[in-house]
Amino acid sequence: MFDADENLVVCNDRYASMYELPEELTKPGTPHRSIVEYRLEHGMRPARGAAGFLDRHYELMDQKKPGVETVTLRNGRIISIRHQPMKDGGWVATHQDMTAEITQAKKLEEQNLRFEAALNNMTQGLCMFDGDKRLVVSNRRYAEMYRIPWQDVKAGMSLEDILRQRLEAGNHPIGGGDAFVASRLVVVAEAKATRFVAEMTDGRVISVVHQPLADGGWVATHEDITEQRRTQARVQHLARHDALTDLSNRILFQEHLEEVAARVRRGEMVGVLCIDLDTFKGVNDTLGHGVGDAVLKTVSKRLLDCARDTDLVARLGGDEFAILESRLLQPEDAALLAARIVKAIAEPFDINGHLVLIGASVGIAVAPIDGEDGEALMRHADLALYRAKGEGRGTYHFYEKSLDAALQERRSIEAGLRAALLHNEFRLVYQPLVNVSENRVSSCEALLRWEHPERGLLDPRQFISIAEETGLIVPIGEWVLREACATAATWPDHIGVAVNLSPTQFGKNRNLVEHVKSALAAAALRPGRLELEITESVLLADNELALKILVKLKELGVKIAMDDFGTGYSSLSYLRRFPFDKIKIDQSFVQDSSGPDSLAIVKAVVGLGQSLGMMTTAEGVETEAQLNMIREQGCTEVQGFLFSVPLPATSISHLLERLNSGTFRHGLTGTDTSGIMNLEARASSRSVKTS
Ligand code: C2E
Ligand code: CA
Ligand code: CA
Repeated sequence: MFDADENLVVCNDRYASMYELPEELTKPGTPHRSIVEYRLEHGMRPARGAAGFLDRHYELMDQKKPGVETVTLRNGRIISIRHQPMKDGGWVATHQDMTAEITQAKKLEEQNLRFEAALNNMTQGLCMFDGDKRLVVSNRRYAEMYRIPWQDVKAGMSLEDILRQRLEAGNHPIGGGDAFVASRLVVVAEAKATRFVAEMTDGRVISVVHQPLADGGWVATHEDITEQRRTQARVQHLARHDALTDLSNRILFQEHLEEVAARVRRGEMVGVLCIDLDTFKGVNDTLGHGVGDAVLKTVSKRLLDCARDTDLVARLGGDEFAILESRLLQPEDAALLAARIVKAIAEPFDINGHLVLIGASVGIAVAPIDGEDGEALMRHADLALYRAKGEGRGTYHFYEKSLDAALQERRSIEAGLRAALLHNEFRLVYQPLVNVSENRVSSCEALLRWEHPERGLLDPRQFISIAEETGLIVPIGEWVLREACATAATWPDHIGVAVNLSPTQFGKNRNLVEHVKSALAAAALRPGRLELEITESVLLADNELALKILVKLKELGVKIAMDDFGTGYSSLSYLRRFPFDKIKIDQSFVQDSSGPDSLAIVKAVVGLGQSLGMMTTAEGVETEAQLNMIREQGCTEVQGFLFSVPLPATSISHLLERLNSGTFRHGLTGTDTSGIMNLEARASSRSVKTS
């Protein structure tokens, strides 16, 4: 408090400490100017500047008016000074530290600005409601999202008002506006954190997250997820569909297969059709992948046309397709579909002027008859397809239990074959080939047997084709060559050995020539004593590589025989491609030699052999009558049960020793056949003549 002379009347300690006044300046009578100057010098910053501070003071004094001034101290504190003139000409001033209040207010203001900015820059729409379901705050995005004017969304509005406004603006969720308002009210009443998705009639999809607040209100965020949904759907579609044909792919098909078991339990009949295109590979190879792709696309269209909307048509890969047929009334329905497919795919394809002809083979399995779940159906339909293809393509085939048994058998043979070489389970038996005019053994054919640990003795028909398919025939064939050469080396020098070769052994990197060379070398066998028997399938499809290999083999000095002549497609043309040493006439002609056709063929082959300088061997001679016929036609050699069944190495050695000097007289071999009969169970029904 100052008097009219502007001298201090009294001040309190708070005042002194606030401005850190030295004690002499707090004494009554201290001039106001001294105190103010001290305060200014020591770091009091008035808002309007130090110079104006006293001017403003005198102005107030002159006008006898109260006033307020804010100053900031060097230490950062903010002081509000309230000036109050008194009647006697003096004044009272109160100084209040406002630091806390002012910084708080500033912070709040900043925060509010930031909040506003954040709120309005959110990609989501946001609304906050209080416990009375009245709007507390919302953002611009919310209004935009529901196409209502931003200025119309006001704090204090009720939820229902806003929802109605949205509906009026045309934002109808699918399912109707009223139902939507009602469902929103339920969500609010439940007061649980939830997320729901509103699908709008205009195609937009909006995801709403509802978060209850402690005061009974809630915050809801709204997000337009239309694009996200679309992308998701696209990605999902791509993952489950074939890019070329847009049919379902293996994954989607598999997912549907997994539901089959449940559908079957509910009493539904379901069919699986496995479809494979015949000769499609040829289209790709000859006309290129562009045409191949176009064919596949057309195929998928035709398949879709054949199937019903409720069927699932899939491309499993390459030229493999499958259909899951729903709600069959009877298994025959699946056959009808299969027949439609076979017919549709057999229609010519016109691809940019290329006329393409392919076909389809179909395997069918129907649940619950052929299996009760998708996995079994698929496996069985696939087996049936395999059979359909085997039956000459362009056909369909139902699954049969016997197919399964055949497959089981195959699998077990395949597994056993891998171990058989290691476990030394293969044997060779030898069957003599007899020169007709000299009546003596010229060579023996080595024939493979497998002493299976569980199944007993197996003959080649039971395992050779599997060994070929798996490539196991290559190491097996190598073993046969070595074993046969080694055995033949123990025989008299004029007796040769014949070894059967599979087409597979003529493949790339199969090293057939090396194997032959090394077998001959290991046994120190003269190459001229080895005869290799091949069937015309080796030369099929213009196999240049096989021809080269044959030439090399011939250069080694070994003989090459054409086996099973007459059973293939065009045996005659193969005779022109390679200078065979021998033609072996298939046993079917010999055994049917009473038939005029067979007789004519034997006659023709013998004549051909004579003019080409090739020997001829008649296989499968079982009777005297057959032998007489063969002799009449002029065959060089005969082979068959009439002379001997295939014998183990030891028995054939005895036989050859006995015959070494003399001639072979069938029926008079004198061989002890007791061992042979055991080994040759298949031949036991035939009469093996011994004396
Ligand atoms: P293939 O080369 O035509 O062999 C002749 C087959 O006729 C042999 O059957 C033989 O036992 C049988 N056979 C011989 N004489 C008569 C007869 O008078 N009447 C009848 N009905 N059959 C007779 P096998 O030993 O069962 O061999 C079957 C086929 O397996 C052979 O036919 C041959 O293609 C193949 N094979 C045999 N051994 C081998 C081998 O080491 N490697 C390869 N790749 N195939 C082999
Ligand atoms: Ca043969
Ligand atoms: Ca043969």
